[in-house]
Amino acid sequence: MDEILSKRMDEMAKISFECSCGRTHTLDIDKLIMGQGVIKRLPEILEDFKEKKIYMLSDNHTYQAAGEKVYEVLCNSGFQVKSVVLDSGGNVLIPDEKAVGKMFMELEENTGMITAVGSGTLNDMAKYMSARTKIPYTIVCTAPSMDGYASSGAPLMNGGRKISYNAVLPYAIVGDTDVMKKAPMRMIHAGYGDVIGKLTALADWKLSHELTGEYYCETIVKLVQKAIDKVVENRQKLARREEEAVLYLIEALTLTGVAMGLIGVSRPASGAEHMLSHYWEMAVIARGENPELHGIKVGIATPLIAEVFDEMQDLLPDSVKAMAPSAKYIQKIMTEAGAPLHPTEAGIDKNLFYHGLLEGNTVRERYSILDFAVKEGRMEKIAEGLTKRFYL
Ligand SMILES: [Zn+2]
Ligand SMILES: [Zn+2]
Repeated sequence: MDEILSKRMDEMAKISFECSCGRTHTLDIDKLIMGQGVIKRLPEILEDFKEKKIYMLSDNHTYQAAGEKVYEVLCNSGFQVKSVVLDSGGNVLIPDEKAVGKMFMELEENTGMITAVGSGTLNDMAKYMSARTKIPYTIVCTAPSMDGYASSGAPLMNGGRKISYNAVLPYAIVGDTDVMKKAPMRMIHAGYGDVIGKLTALADWKLSHELTGEYYCETIVKLVQKAIDKVVENRQKLARREEEAVLYLIEALTLTGVAMGLIGVSRPASGAEHMLSHYWEMAVIARGENPELHGIKVGIATPLIAEVFDEMQDLLPDSVKAMAPSAKYIQKIMTEAGAPLHPTEAGIDKNLFYHGLLEGNTVRERYSILDFAVKEGRMEKIAEGLTKRFYL
C-alpha cells in the first residue's frame, strides 16, 4: 500500500493509488523529469505537441540561464517555437497587469504548448494562462527556490494587491540540475527554507488532526519527510552547490507540490510558518516595498514556529511532540546550510515581528500551533520573549 514511498520522482507522474488513509490519491501531472542535462530531452518530452506551436516564456534573466538553450534544443528538433522574453528592465519580473497582458497579447493561434522557463513568477503566469486558455504548460525550472512548480494556485499582482488565482497543474516539470546549481545562492537558500518549513507544517497538520479531527494521511507525511531528510542530510553540499544536493532540493520541492496534488490540500506544505511569512509579506507589500523571496521568509519563520512548539511542549499530545522539531535543531540545520535566520534579513522590523507572532494565526483559517498558543493564553509571553531576543 505504501509502495509510493519507494518510487522515483519520474514514476510518480500520472500515479493513482488506493491509500491506507482510505482515499484514492491521483496526480494529474504527465511528466516529472529531473537530473543533469535533462533540457536536452525536451524534444522527446514534448513530442506529442510537435504539430502545433510552442509558446516559450522567459524573462531577461531566465532566458540567459536556460531559455536560449531550450529554444535551441527545440528548434533544432524541428519544433516551431515562438519565444517571448518578458522585459523586467534588469529587475525582478513582477506578475502584474502589464506582464500578464503582454503574455496574452503575444500568444499566437495554433499554440499547443506553453513552455515557461523560470521559477516562481514565470511558473505562476504560465499556469494562469494555461488555466484560462486550456493550453497545457510545461515548466523548465531555473532555480530550486520554492515548491510551487507542482502546485495549482497562481498568485499574481492585480491593482497592487497579491491575489491567488486558481490555475492548473503543469503537463511536465523539467528540472535540469546543470541550470539550477548556477542559480543565485539566495534562491537556493529560499528553496531550502521552504523545505525546512515543511517540518513545522507537518507537526501543525498532526496537531490539527489530534485536536480538531482534521483529515490526515500518514503515507503522504512519510513521503514528504523522506524527501526533507535527503535535503537536510546534504545541507553542507548544498552550500557548495553540489549537483546531488541540488537534485534532492528540487525533488523535495516538487514532491511537496506532488503531495498537495495527491490529497487536494496544502497541509503537507504549509503551516504556521507560512502564515507568519504571509503576514510579513502583506505588510511589506502594503508599504509599497518589494518583498523578500518566499522561501527566505519561510526559512526565517520556521525556527520561530518551532520555538512556539517548544514552549507548548507540556500541553502537546505525545504524537505531536514526536514530530515537532526543536528550535535549536532548525537553527542548526539552517546555519549549516548558510541560510539566513534573522528577521531583519527579510526586512522585518521589530513592530511587524511582534505583531506577526500575535496575529499570524488570523492570516487564514487553518488550525496551527499559533491558535493553540493563543487559546492557552501563552502567545503574548512567547512573542515578547522572541522579540526581545531578536531586537534589543
Ligand atoms: Zn493517503
Ligand atoms: Zn512555501
